[in-house]
Amino acid sequence: MTTTPHDDTATANLARTFADYAPSIEGRDIVAIRPRYGLMIDGEERDARDGAVFSTIEPANGEHIAEVAEGAAADVDDAVAAARRAYETVWRDMPGRTRAKYLFRMARLLQDRSREFAVLETIDGGKPIRESRDVDVPLAAAHLFYHAGWADKLEYAVPGMTGRPIGVVGQITPWNFPLLMVAWKIAPALACGNTVVLKPAETTPLTALLLAELAAEAGLPPGVLNVVTGAGATGAALAAHPGVDKVAFTGSTEVGKAIRRATAERGTRLTLELGGKGAHVVFDDAALDQAVEGIVDGIFFNQGHVCCAGSRLLVQEGIADELLDRLRRRIELLRVGDPLDKNTDVGAINSHAQLERIRGFVDEARDDGAQVHQSTRALPGKGFYFPPTIVTGLGGSEAICREEVFGPVLAVQTFRTEAEAVARANATRYGLSAGVWTEKGSRILWMSQRLRAGVVWANSFNRFDPASPFGGLRESGFGREGGRQGLQEYLTLSPVTA
Ligand code: ADP
Repeated sequence: MTTTPHDDTATANLARTFADYAPSIEGRDIVAIRPRYGLMIDGEERDARDGAVFSTIEPANGEHIAEVAEGAAADVDDAVAAARRAYETVWRDMPGRTRAKYLFRMARLLQDRSREFAVLETIDGGKPIRESRDVDVPLAAAHLFYHAGWADKLEYAVPGMTGRPIGVVGQITPWNFPLLMVAWKIAPALACGNTVVLKPAETTPLTALLLAELAAEAGLPPGVLNVVTGAGATGAALAAHPGVDKVAFTGSTEVGKAIRRATAERGTRLTLELGGKGAHVVFDDAALDQAVEGIVDGIFFNQGHVCCAGSRLLVQEGIADELLDRLRRRIELLRVGDPLDKNTDVGAINSHAQLERIRGFVDEARDDGAQVHQSTRALPGKGFYFPPTIVTGLGGSEAICREEVFGPVLAVQTFRTEAEAVARANATRYGLSAGVWTEKGSRILWMSQRLRAGVVWANSFNRFDPASPFGGLRESGFGREGGRQGLQEYLTLSPVTA
């Protein structure tokens, strides 16, 4: 995907694209958080069979928010059985236009309740309210709308083929875009006539549960969307369940590999959207102010908890000093702090464990002789925070250049020629995203043909659209989400024969 230059941060662009309404956030009292949440199975909220619960924590202050039921294998069995019943008795054979009605209703209800969802997302996950409000929630609604539009047009989705639903789909989502990733997953699955068992991430379960509540409000038949909360063991039970016909997973490459092994045992269909180590490649003819904004957005948006983040900067030698100077000045302007404050640019790190992981990478780079530059703004005394960080003096073989840090940390290297830029950008086991910054159109085309990444942005970064397929190459996974390609992942296709 290539896009044109933009005149503001990508976040603002997304806001213009998707938020035709911009509610003002009044604060945490907008959402009524209950002390305890259950599993959502067959249209009913209930405890785990063994009564187990876990605590979800507010990253902004490290405090307990609520108890959430921890599903075990027996609960996954119940959810899969409910999804199977709903599939066979209601959803599979329902006309597409009727299925669409439910999805349209859910999309509209999500818009109506957008403030509540945005505040809850920010409390549970730590991302700035400006992002939850202007990106996550409107884009989640856009995915529901887009896929609702396909539900009665599936015969045109893949020319020459007819598509049938696959059956019961197990979906496992991560904590970085808790609501949005759920929307990416359930919208195409349901539009295509599948039923779902969803396992949201353990640090951010609340908006998925609120969405299940909203689905019930939209009249979605019981069992079509089931939510089993819990941690890795719950996800593993779902991925290995013999009653699941397809698994869709977004998360770390290591867990993705385990799921791949589990599903390979039974030939279950699978899509994986895994880690990334995306490179911004900035040439000496680039519009530097725009490039700085794109780089800042690419790595500090959502605290860098973004699988397609531009976590590596490859800058052409002649402009390296100038660009780094501008970047250092720019990160001083980023406000790090209370995620519920509308002026916050960088919120809280999602969990204490993640904070420690990020610290580990930066400390290791420093110990190995790299230069670490961090914003000097004070961080809040409580909660999980990490300053915007730029690391230079790197050769490319260091962990910080190779591994997914998943934090607000930019690893910088330089290059001289286009060929060197391609070689460095592709020197990764991942292949999810890349960005090219140059005023030369021919160079954009040349580069985007050679960069090994599922998405290549040109003079922009982190731009998403439900109609545009997103996904990775190599250890970033396989399968696409969004667009017609994303629909195919939820259909069994057979050739049309006269
Ligand atoms: P991260 O490392 O970014 O936390 P994970 O890949 O661990 O990402 O988590 C993504 C999702 O996968 C979460 O919902 C998590 O509970 C789930 N998960 C973790 N381990 C497993 C596993 N072995 N099998 C299935 N799902 C898992």
